Amino acid sequence: MSLNVVLASHNAHKIAEFQRILGAAIPGLTVKAYDGPEPVEDGLSFDENALIKARAAAAHTGAVALADDSGISVDVMSGSPGIFSARWSGTRDDGANRRLLLAQIADIHDGDRAAQFHCSIAIVVPGAGEKDAVEHVVHGEWPGRVAREETGENGFGYDPIFIPNGFDVSSAELTPDQKNEISHRARAVRAAIPLLADLAAR
Ligand code: IMP
Repeated sequence: MSLNVVLASHNAHKIAEFQRILGAAIPGLTVKAYDGPEPVEDGLSFDENALIKARAAAAHTGAVALADDSGISVDVMSGSPGIFSARWSGTRDDGANRRLLLAQIADIHDGDRAAQFHCSIAIVVPGAGEKDAVEHVVHGEWPGRVAREETGENGFGYDPIFIPNGFDVSSAELTPDQKNEISHRARAVRAAIPLLADLAAR
C-alpha cells in the first residue's frame, strides 16, 4: 500500500502538517511539495480556489494532487473576509488585515461577533485525459468569535483576534500542537483520510 501525493503549497509547515496527520492514518502515504507553475486563483469560493490549485498540480505532475484554501468568515459581515482573508486590507500584511477587521466591527457586541475559520481541501486524481480526472472537496470548520483586541504570539493571520469556542484565549495563545489538533485545517485533513486511504489501497 503506497501513495505519493503532491500538495500545492510552498509552506513547509503545511506540508509537514499534512504528512504528520495523513502519514499516521495511511501507512505508505507520502506528501511532496508541488513546485510547478501556479494558476491564477480567481475562484469565487474556497472550494473553487482549492480546485483550481489542485487541478494545476495534478495536470503538471500526473500525481494525485491536494490543495487547500482557507480564511475567516464573520457572521455579522455576511461571511467576509472569506476568500479575501489574505488581502482584506488591500495588502498581505496580517497586522493590517486584523486591524481593519477589528475596526469594522468595533461597535458590535460580544454576543454578535461569531466567526469561523474555514478550510476546503481539493483532491484531484488524474485520469487518461484532463476531462477524466476525478475531483473531490472536503471541508473543515473551526467556530469561534472575533475578540476585541489582539492577544498571543503564536500562529499567523487572524489567530491573535480569534477566540475558538470552548476557550477564553485566542488561537494565537494555543500551542502549535493544540491548534494543529483542532483547527479547521486539521479537521479538513482528517476528512480527506477515507478518500486517500481508498486510493492508497488500489
Ligand atoms: P491560505 O488559504 O492558507 O492561503 O490562507 C488564507 C488566509 O486566511 C491567510 O492569509 C490568513 O489571513 C487566513 N487564515 C487561514 N488559516 C488561518 C489560521 O489558521 N489562522 C489565522 N489565519 C488564517
